[in-house]
Amino acid sequence: MANNRDEFPQKIKDLLGNRVGWRCSNPDCRKPTRGANDDPQEITNIGVASHICTATIGGPRYDPQMSPEERKSAENGIWLCQSCSKLIDDDIIRYNVDLLYIWKENAERLAIAELQSASPVSTNNKDKVLLRFYVQCFDRPAFQDRISQEGRIEDFDQAIEDTIIALNTGVLRTQDGVIIKQSEGKSAIINHAWREKLNTITDMLVALRKRLKIAKDENLYSTYGKGEVMYCFYDQELETWFDLTREEIIKILSSICQEAGISGLHFPRLPYRW
Ligand SMILES: [Zn+2]
Repeated sequence: MANNRDEFPQKIKDLLGNRVGWRCSNPDCRKPTRGANDDPQEITNIGVASHICTATIGGPRYDPQMSPEERKSAENGIWLCQSCSKLIDDDIIRYNVDLLYIWKENAERLAIAELQSASPVSTNNKDKVLLRFYVQCFDRPAFQDRISQEGRIEDFDQAIEDTIIALNTGVLRTQDGVIIKQSEGKSAIINHAWREKLNTITDMLVALRKRLKIAKDENLYSTYGKGEVMYCFYDQELETWFDLTREEIIKILSSICQEAGISGLHFPRLPYRW
């Protein structure tokens, strides 16, 4: 239990709850925390103003640098339902300070979005639908095989381009240009942190294509083998860079999936070096 000294004043508790429309700030929960009580004069409240950094020495996410004033400020609070309040203190590695700030910021943004929308929307669910679509776009050999084992480099380049287009416009097409699925581009993602990560992924995909073009122009790789074409990069570091960059892209994508609570992809199937 927190020291009374560092407990949030009622005014701060009300502020935290009001700013998120009295819903739990956990994106996977979003439970309303206030409603009518059987007693017509009372309300039922299952919401808690939780500390992001605890007020108890050695407790969850305790920050010794924080002053008591900072600990009981609105900045250090997040509105949650009772069970999520317990959840975040049971696993402080998963529910770290950065994640809780993301939850808080998004819950506040969702509260505004719901106010502005004619019908109640779950923007978080919409984000999840979009994320599932993007994950599907990465489920192709171009993100699973080592660069030396890709089929034709032209096909690889095309697959990367298709993925960039899918992220930007929500249109996923096959290599012969047939549109197989249509969604929305990443600018439709409400969650700011996820959108930023998707922007980073797109930048990295663009870099892959640019580097591939330079490698081609400078004849930095050649093909060998009959039937199944294999590639030999003359620059081992460059070859590794292609593999590591794609692994990093999948890692970023996986971190978004983890935060959103949806299943991601795994990469690589193969080690980088022989
Ligand atoms: Zn909750």
